[in-house]
Amino acid sequence: MAEKQKLLHRYMKNLSDMEDELKKKELEKKMKELELLQCELARRQERSGTKCAGGKIKELRQKKLQKVLAAYMMTLEGLLCEVARREARLNGDRGRVSESENLPHPEMLEEYTVVFCAVGEDGRELLEAALSARRCAYAPYSKFKVGAAFRAKCGRIYSGCNIENVAFTGGNCAERCALAKGISEGERKYTAGAVVAYHPDQFTTPCGVCRQFILEFLHRDIPIYIAKAPPPEQEHCIPAIQDTDEVLVTSAYRLLPYSLRSFE
Ligand SMILES: [Zn+2]
Repeated sequence: MAEKQKLLHRYMKNLSDMEDELKKKELEKKMKELELLQCELARRQERSGTKCAGGKIKELRQKKLQKVLAAYMMTLEGLLCEVARREARLNGDRGRVSESENLPHPEMLEEYTVVFCAVGEDGRELLEAALSARRCAYAPYSKFKVGAAFRAKCGRIYSGCNIENVAFTGGNCAERCALAKGISEGERKYTAGAVVAYHPDQFTTPCGVCRQFILEFLHRDIPIYIAKAPPPEQEHCIPAIQDTDEVLVTSAYRLLPYSLRSFE
């Protein structure tokens, strides 16, 4: 009897082992399936991620293209305006601001841009004097250095720079500094002026107060040359203004067509 029980035990154990083995195999199979599913999931996620990234890149590219296009359109509009202006000039329109008899603007000099080497000697000399004066600018607060120069009727150049003050209103602009030097030496008439300052995107023209100040000493329109000074790290390079640098040639009356002219 005991022998039979022993045998039964062994059978049971074998059966249990076999069952374990089957379970193990089943488990392994399930694990493999799970791994495959995980792989597939990862693949799909990656694909959808790439799709998202691709979409974003496309969107960014489109935005960039739109920006470039907008810039081109602006340039085109500017060029069309310039063409219209030049055509009007060719047809005898000297660019009067108004036809009204109550706004007696004097004839204004033309306004245009030109490369530095194409500016007349008078303008080039003034721009260089303004740039030289700019090196003395005292601008510890704004760090915005400006140089200006004006040619007096006698031919002499008076230059100046901006001078700031801790009490801001005590500061002075380069244009008024230059003119004050000349006026204090008895020069009341000027034939041309120049202003230079560094700004990466635009020309720096005189402020409103300086425009009115300049007009105080004019009996006729005078050219005002505006150039971009080189960036601070290049300001000691020689020549500081390159031949191909753009210069805006405007005029005193164009800068302030509606100036205060009389109290009477
Ligand atoms: Zn000013």
